[in-house]
Amino acid sequence: MSYAFLPLHVLHTARLGPTMTRVTFGGERVDECASGGFDQRLKLFLPLPGQERPVVPVDDPDWFTAWRALDPSIRSIMRTYTVRAQRPGELDVDFALHGETGPASHWASKARPGDQVTIFAPLTADNSGVDFRPPPTATRILLAGDETALPAIGGILESLPADVSTETWIEVPDPADRQELPSTPIHWLTRTNNEHLTEALPAASITVPDYAWIAGESSTVKALRRHLVQTLGMDRRTVTFTGYWRKGDTEEDLLAEVAAGRTPHTEE
Ligand SMILES: Cc1cc2nc3c(=O)[nH]c(=O)nc-3n(C[C@H](O)[C@H](O)[C@H](O)COP(=O)(O)OP(=O)(O)OC[C@H]3O[C@@H](n4cnc5c(N)ncnc54)[C@H](O)[C@@H]3O)c2cc1C
Repeated sequence: MSYAFLPLHVLHTARLGPTMTRVTFGGERVDECASGGFDQRLKLFLPLPGQERPVVPVDDPDWFTAWRALDPSIRSIMRTYTVRAQRPGELDVDFALHGETGPASHWASKARPGDQVTIFAPLTADNSGVDFRPPPTATRILLAGDETALPAIGGILESLPADVSTETWIEVPDPADRQELPSTPIHWLTRTNNEHLTEALPAASITVPDYAWIAGESSTVKALRRHLVQTLGMDRRTVTFTGYWRKGDTEEDLLAEVAAGRTPHTEE
């Protein structure tokens, strides 16, 4: 199997802004995670309240069915996150903090050194958890997303070769959530200033890119994709778009749709 459940623990945390915290994980097996860079996703398993470590299935080719088959009263909470960075012995995940209702947001806001989690992680860098796949000829790339996509955008910008030019649009809750990123131009939009991707990007006169990558709240992602394909005339095959979350729905709600045969993260 090219993925495995790896037990990790929190080494330290760092507040990156009012609504973002970085959790650095370590553990004996942390270096087995082979991030492909860019927007590498992983599954994060968190303990239920009162548990010391998350209950996960044993490695199983059909791990998702095995996880769902666990008794819900002990089954861990599963969420999807991005590998923001990886160094020998350390792996960073940046969590958007959106209050207490989301178990992952709540967990991250309280995370302390030693807290235990499990990740379901790729063991080879060439893996299906990297969605950023521009055509090899693409030299002009557009990136757009909200704070949940900011870790992936940071990873993409750091992984791209220098001869590729990028234009990046990021909507964050607060001006202090802006981060240093290794590329320009970055158009920062802040919700406290009533700036929104769905209005600002379509209103801007942008050069049509060779490839676009969009992620964030589902309805925003759909609206931006529609603008790129229908208004700017981009070939739909050159736009990668992923709903990272959907207003009013938990990740369990979205997974229930997957289990029912629909794909909420990529649906039109
Ligand atoms: C491929 C992929 C990569 C991702 N990478 C990251 C990442 O690196 N960092 C990151 O922070 N998130 C990332 N996300 C998004 C994250 O998985 C979701 O935000 C997730 O729902 C958070 O879980 P939760 O337990 O906090 O909230 P849930 O229990 O899933 O949801 C509880 C409630 O909060 C709402 N909600 C969920 N997220 C947000 C939010 N950000 N702002 C406001 N309301 C919200 C839901 O609609 C729901 O009503 C990624 C998602 C995908 C699919």
